[in-house]
Amino acid sequence: MDNCLFCKIINGEIPVKKVYENEHILAFRDIDPKAPVHILVIPKKHIRSVNELKSSDKNLAGELLLSAKKIAKDEGIDSKGFRTIFNTNDDGGQTVYHIHMHIMGGRQMQWPPG
Ligand code: AMP
Ligand code: ZN
Repeated sequence: MDNCLFCKIINGEIPVKKVYENEHILAFRDIDPKAPVHILVIPKKHIRSVNELKSSDKNLAGELLLSAKKIAKDEGIDSKGFRTIFNTNDDGGQTVYHIHMHIMGGRQMQWPPG
């Protein structure tokens, strides 16, 4: 989609530090990490947010979550633990309107989040 930052990353217009990629998803390091490990996983298909997920996106949504398992293992944070987050709209703190899952780890996370 035009003018979508993450679509531009998928198209290769904006460089990122790639962590994992397959036909459907791309994972890369957050440009402004809030934890020692901070990775974003996005679908290659433009979906605005969790609010716009359709039942036909079920496999894609599952793939996003399953990628967290693989990436956490690859990053060596699986056993100590990590957090997966989807921010949605203003109250959720979403700033980029292309659905993405944050994977954060490498330090003790606080609860509740701010
Ligand atoms: P959110 O606030 O949940 O919408 O998350 C958007 C995330 O995208 C933030 O954590 C940003 O630091 C990150 N971000 C923005 N631009 C880039 C970029 N060019 N490369 C990597 N991460 C980015
Ligand atoms: Zn997009």
